[in-house]
Amino acid sequence: MISPLGHPKILSLLPELGVQSFLFTGPEGVGRRTVARWFTYLLNCTRGLPPCGNCASCLLDPHPDFLLVEPDKDTKSGKTSQKPQIRLEQIAPRQEGEPNLLDWASTYPRYRAKLAVVDGAHLLNEAAANALLKLLEEPPGYLRLVLVAPSRELVLPTLASRSTEIPFAPLPASLMETLTPDPRVLAFAGGAPGKALWALNHPAEFSALNQAASKVLEALETGPNQSFLALKELLEVEGGLAYFSTMLHHLFPLGTGARAAALEVILRTEEALASYVSTDLVVTQLAQKLWRLAKAPQRV
Ligand SMILES: [Zn+2]
Repeated sequence: MISPLGHPKILSLLPELGVQSFLFTGPEGVGRRTVARWFTYLLNCTRGLPPCGNCASCLLDPHPDFLLVEPDKDTKSGKTSQKPQIRLEQIAPRQEGEPNLLDWASTYPRYRAKLAVVDGAHLLNEAAANALLKLLEEPPGYLRLVLVAPSRELVLPTLASRSTEIPFAPLPASLMETLTPDPRVLAFAGGAPGKALWALNHPAEFSALNQAASKVLEALETGPNQSFLALKELLEVEGGLAYFSTMLHHLFPLGTGARAAALEVILRTEEALASYVSTDLVVTQLAQKLWRLAKAPQRV
């Protein structure tokens, strides 16, 4: 059994909505998958709301009526593609015996209802999206589908229009502080309990992230070349650039305009990196732009 942190309105709303397809939007780590798993227990609990935690269904973990479909980075050729995607064979049957969403959804639940999460509904390739659309149009009565994406705008309109959007907001500081008092972890998490828990459970990785990000802050005091090297190191660390963007107030304590400009530069960099552009070229530009912004006289 699982109990999500926060989102009380969503938890009370979900069982009352008489719909089968949902689109959970919001930032990474905020609790969308956790709430979807909790909903599976709720739908199948023999005792009701909230799920009791003690009945035959609640005691199952993992629950057989829950399925998670995620993008993978492996392509058919075995090479790792840079951009993760959900492929057709994850949604529809292609080869005998290969697990996929449509096959899974075609059999009755062990208890009352099945729930499938498509995590990365914005990362479905075209064929996969078309296959999923058929299921969204006519889902079996026992099935709930939860599409997960950062925002509705990123999801194909044909999929989004057949789903009820449930927007997830970052949790308030008072709730986040029940997880940890560490201000660095709280800044890193930005209201997403999943990110806070990752930092707490991976102290070595989190410390490496802090060191790499602090190095960039120091290098930006020195010059674009040093900044380039420090940024390259930061990119080696998973989530490095995103974490660095939470530290921009150190760089621009007064200039909110410059801070916004720097954030924009970082977002563009992330997009460029995701689309196969040469890393060195992208990082050179990032270093120069950030250095220039950091050197410019700041206005309040
Ligand atoms: Zn139960």
